[in-house]
Amino acid sequence: MNPSVTSPNSVLQLAIALNELRGSEFDRPLGKDDSCLSSRRIIHVIQAGASSQDLEHLRTCSVCRATLTRLEGKRLESEPDFIRRAMQEAETAESITAPASAREEPRLLTAILGTGSDHVEVGPEPGGDVHLVLNLFPVFRTELLGKLDQDSLRVNGACLATRGTIAEAVDLDGDSTADYLWLSFPSSRLAPRVLEAIRHHHRVIDTIEVRGTFKDSAQELVARTSLEFRA
Ligand SMILES: [Zn+2]
Repeated sequence: MNPSVTSPNSVLQLAIALNELRGSEFDRPLGKDDSCLSSRRIIHVIQAGASSQDLEHLRTCSVCRATLTRLEGKRLESEPDFIRRAMQEAETAESITAPASAREEPRLLTAILGTGSDHVEVGPEPGGDVHLVLNLFPVFRTELLGKLDQDSLRVNGACLATRGTIAEAVDLDGDSTADYLWLSFPSSRLAPRVLEAIRHHHRVIDTIEVRGTFKDSAQELVARTSLEFRA
């Protein structure tokens, strides 16, 4: 037997190599080309928000948008493998001809948020309001976007806003159903912790959470993104 195979060093190397192999699977694009989102990237954008590049890709790639809608109601796990399992479950569910009403509806629905900008300008008067404009891509069936109750939209966390509007519902594929929304929160107040951090460091990265409810439904929308605030 080759002694190098059983030495502790090679066991370590094997573990590293296996880890890389495992990692690479989750880093592999799930869609049609290399710019498509991987399992790891999908988890990241759901948990921490989408970059302007991610948003641009989602606008142009129906495959990635379809992947997201198939994750409806799935519990988010940090292990990227849950996406593959969720997609397999979705395929199985689609093949069963049970009426939609017989299926249990998930209560919490998530979405991907992004500003399309690398930071939020706080302005010379950091005590003032900021105008938040967010892209929202559903991680659920796009039909539900039409049921989102504009009056229920709220922002919590690094920014606080109790009034928001659906500035635009964008239909990308011409099927008369919106594929994503532009949400506008014209007067969002910065949380005291953000103001304090900006006073000291002129910039801070913090998280906002958007919540909303759907008409005629007990379902709730929860979506988060990290934002960089700069004075
Ligand atoms: Zn794609």
